[in-house]
Amino acid sequence: MTAKEKSIEERIDRLHADGVVDCHFDMPMDLYEKRNRTNVVATDYLPELETGNIGILGAAIYIEDRYLPEIGLRVALDQIARLYAEAEQGARVAICKSYQEILGARKDRKIALLITMEGVEPLGTDLDLLRVFYELGVRSIGLTHARRNAAGDGGVFAPTGSSGDGLTAFGRDVVRQCEVFGVIVDLAHISPAGFEDILAITTRPPIVSHTNARKYYEIERNVTNEQIKMIGERRGVIGVNAVLVSPKKEESTLDRYIDHVEHVADLIGIEGVGIGFDFFEFIYRQWPESKRKEVAAKLTTPHFIPDLSNHSHSRNLTRRLIERGFSDENIEKILRGNWMRIFKELL
Ligand SMILES: [Zn+2]
Repeated sequence: MTAKEKSIEERIDRLHADGVVDCHFDMPMDLYEKRNRTNVVATDYLPELETGNIGILGAAIYIEDRYLPEIGLRVALDQIARLYAEAEQGARVAICKSYQEILGARKDRKIALLITMEGVEPLGTDLDLLRVFYELGVRSIGLTHARRNAAGDGGVFAPTGSSGDGLTAFGRDVVRQCEVFGVIVDLAHISPAGFEDILAITTRPPIVSHTNARKYYEIERNVTNEQIKMIGERRGVIGVNAVLVSPKKEESTLDRYIDHVEHVADLIGIEGVGIGFDFFEFIYRQWPESKRKEVAAKLTTPHFIPDLSNHSHSRNLTRRLIERGFSDENIEKILRGNWMRIFKELL
């Protein structure tokens, strides 16, 4: 290693010392599928998380189609049960329900897990269950994935064609109740009409935990410049997703990821950018070919970025941010500071 390379690696060490925040990770559904095993986090996840210096992780409860509607609620509860069991097995992770608990976990050098929900299918149409999930530790909720549910519709993976219906009455109730409880409302995946509805009935800084700019990937699942500005006006944060940076495989690169970061920062300032990697290549690889085809037909074919496809690669991101001239102060905001501001204010 040359002296220059060494100094860059030391700079990355310093920038990562307090831990990187990734606001969206599909770990709970994988823990559920591996529920006959113990210490899954320690064996399957920790090596990459620790190599990448991940400090805080949004762990998303998500229910696959095959469990709906009959056992969606039970699978969601079991996913949370697996998270608690894994945390108890001394896996160096801690489930956190408040900003203070996040700080405490970090002080103990544990990875802070924030339980999030991607799609309110587990609630069915029962608002009382929101209280139950809150008590279990869910602290951020996105109303929908790509499909329709009792709260509203997801944005389609196409330039047009999402439902124009906006939120249902139930969806609006969920949003209002989230604000009462202090649960973050996550705008990732919601249809454009639902996006506007949520902003019209909330007052706090909004987040989009994992998304990309439509400038580079023109689908309604991603966000327009107007939507990015709406988040910025309310001092919200947008987590840049690593699996939808471009419709083209050859353009799905680390540099294109940083183009999304720059684009959001150009529109609303560096304070509006965070990370929501959405790494799921490890799950995708476990799927049979038939299921990959099903996902390609229903949604899209994800293009994983070769040097940014799992948590151990987060140092590659920081290195490239340095190479592209980002200051330490701005890198720190992207990697951690902006999400921490949101957690401090909302949790
Ligand atoms: Zn998602």
